[in-house]
Amino acid sequence: MNYRERIRDYKRIIVKVGTTSLTYENGRFNLKKMERFARVLTDLRNRGIDIVLVSSGAIAVGAEKLGLDERPRDVIGKQASSAVGQAILMQMYERFFGEYNQKIAQILLTKPVFDAEHKKRNASNTFNKLFELNVIPIVNENDTVATDEFNEFSDNDTLSAYVAAIVKGDLLIILSDIDGMYTADPNKDESAEIIDVVPEITDEIYSIAGGSASIFGTGGMITKVQAADFLGKRGIDMVIASGESPDVIHDILEGNRIGTLFVGNK
Ligand code: GLU
Repeated sequence: MNYRERIRDYKRIIVKVGTTSLTYENGRFNLKKMERFARVLTDLRNRGIDIVLVSSGAIAVGAEKLGLDERPRDVIGKQASSAVGQAILMQMYERFFGEYNQKIAQILLTKPVFDAEHKKRNASNTFNKLFELNVIPIVNENDTVATDEFNEFSDNDTLSAYVAAIVKGDLLIILSDIDGMYTADPNKDESAEIIDVVPEITDEIYSIAGGSASIFGTGGMITKVQAADFLGKRGIDMVIASGESPDVIHDILEGNRIGTLFVGNK
């Protein structure tokens, strides 16, 4: 079985983009990339594929708007920045997707939604209705109310995995500043190579992720492997790839060897 090729038949894809894939270091929008994301995702929607975009960036964009020198570190500061930034983020998406006449929706979620059966059902019904209406839902954590440190996601890798599970997606694509999972830290070890396919999440995979390679990405490699493990048990694939060029989404869906594919247990 070629795990890459079967992706070509997938009909429901969740794409997670991290802050670094959407903004420059100063928190300003990378307009070229946002435009490209909107174009690629609309094209997939036009092909009849259901798409969910899980987008970070609210805190960084809010901090920039507020004129803060750096991204706040304290919880309340982050929440305030996110409240400002989320609205701006959606306004930008509205503009870019609007170029292609693609309808979008905002869905803000928190961890307790996934812990309560009826809330989970409500959320999943809403997603399904939006797919039916040809809309691309754009998801973020509802940062402003996600205050309880034991009860929040804290990174969108985990959130996107939960979303993929409730919409019963075929594949989650995590786009970040690392182009895949390496056998060792590529900055320190010249022989480090990208792992093409992980057919099963073993202790060895966890120990590679927990090692030096975990410095990469917002949530780190360990949260990504945990997300893949969670999804694998639910029969959902996951790919980690670089968010440098939004066109990689097309390449992944064509079954090309991009980043690292964690195979769902189908
Ligand atoms: N929810 C946060 C934001 O929009 C991002 C969390 C993350 O980067 O994983 O800024």
